[in-house]
Amino acid sequence: MQYHKSWVILKNGILMLLSDEAITTIRSYAQDEENKPEAGGILLGKRRRNHFEVIHVTEPTEYDIRSRYHWIRSDKIHSDIAKKYWVESQGQITYLGEWHTHPETIPSPSTIDLNEWRVLVDKCSHPAGMSMIIGGIDDLWCGIAQKESIIAMSKVT
Ligand SMILES: [Zn+2]
Repeated sequence: MQYHKSWVILKNGILMLLSDEAITTIRSYAQDEENKPEAGGILLGKRRRNHFEVIHVTEPTEYDIRSRYHWIRSDKIHSDIAKKYWVESQGQITYLGEWHTHPETIPSPSTIDLNEWRVLVDKCSHPAGMSMIIGGIDDLWCGIAQKESIIAMSKVT
C-alpha cells in the first residue's frame, strides 16, 4: 500500500507535506517481512511558518543499532548529514524531526517513543515544535511534538 503524503492537525491547521523521495525512502524500510529490523533517521526540509515540508530523510547507517523492535541512531552521522544539507541549501533545509519504523500495520507511538520525543522537543527552540513520523507496514503515523503535548495528525483526503 502507498503511504499518504499530506497530513494536518484539524484543530489548528498545522500541515505536514512529504516529498516523493521521503515517502519512497521510508516505504523501503517498512517491516513487511519477519526479518526486517526497525529503521529510522532524521527528517530534513523546510519550515514554512508553523508548517513542515519534509524533503529528505536520512537512512539507517552501519553505525545505528537495529533489531526487530528497537533502533538506536548514531547521532553523529545523522547530524553530519543534516549539516551538509543545511550548508548546501544556504540554511533552507533544516532539521525538522525524526522518523522510524514499527512492525505494525497501522503504527502508533510507544510509551518509549513519547518519552524520547519529550526529551528531544525540550531542546527545540521553534514554537511549532518537531515533526515525528512512524512508518508502519500499510501506513504512516504523523505527528507534531510540542513542548506541552504530542499531537497526532490526520490524513488530508
Ligand atoms: Zn517507536
